[in-house]
Amino acid sequence: MKLTVVGRAPAWTMRRDDPSSSYLVEDGTTAIVMDLGQGALGALAEVRKPESVDAIFVSHLHPDHHADLVALRHYLRFGMKPPGSVRLHGPGELRSRYDAFLGEAGFLDGLPGEDVTASTFSIGSLIVQARPVTHALNSHAFRVTTDGGANGLVYSGDCGQAADLVPLMVAGDTLLCEAFWGTTVAEANVQHLTAIDAAWAARAGRAERLILTHIPDAHDPAGSATAAARSFGGEVLLARPGLQVDIA
Ligand SMILES: [Zn+2]
Repeated sequence: MKLTVVGRAPAWTMRRDDPSSSYLVEDGTTAIVMDLGQGALGALAEVRKPESVDAIFVSHLHPDHHADLVALRHYLRFGMKPPGSVRLHGPGELRSRYDAFLGEAGFLDGLPGEDVTASTFSIGSLIVQARPVTHALNSHAFRVTTDGGANGLVYSGDCGQAADLVPLMVAGDTLLCEAFWGTTVAEANVQHLTAIDAAWAARAGRAERLILTHIPDAHDPAGSATAAARSFGGEVLLARPGLQVDIA
């Protein structure tokens, strides 16, 4: 199973070539994408044809995790003949919010699929388990593994409580974890993690590897990786567009 970081930016970036959250997971001929934030579609297309993805999973309703569904929908509808289709599993209310925003009923109908709940999805050779996390309405983290049951990848989505991630983790997994606050002090009632919180989750879940993501430049990504490595004790990577990690 291979992870490719398509995008890792938080809700904004001041750099080109820095898409927001989007992660491709491939196993043999099966491919899923977790989140598709702004700028992610073109970055994904440089790695793999978007229409060849078996399913897209959206972690929650904040647009830096799904805004390029607009671009993907238009590409599938108007950029392909006949129109293409990709499965979409998103949080409850995602579809109705797009309908309201675009003023068009059924805007995402070309991307059919059930809403994400606390459940398990089988997509080709991949198994995706969703677990609610503390963040915004209908927010989930995901664990992806192969149907052979090898080590998995746990993606935090956005998450305000590191302890929410631990029940999803199995010893030896890779934790791909948001650390929006980086090395700064977390603001009360803004549901994100620091680098030390992410390291705590990696240690508590007996992860083999921690990949930090979603850190604004002003919140010290490099210092966050150093602090997390000291706290976690295992391998720590910083997500960047194009980073590929084999998970086995
Ligand atoms: Zn969010």
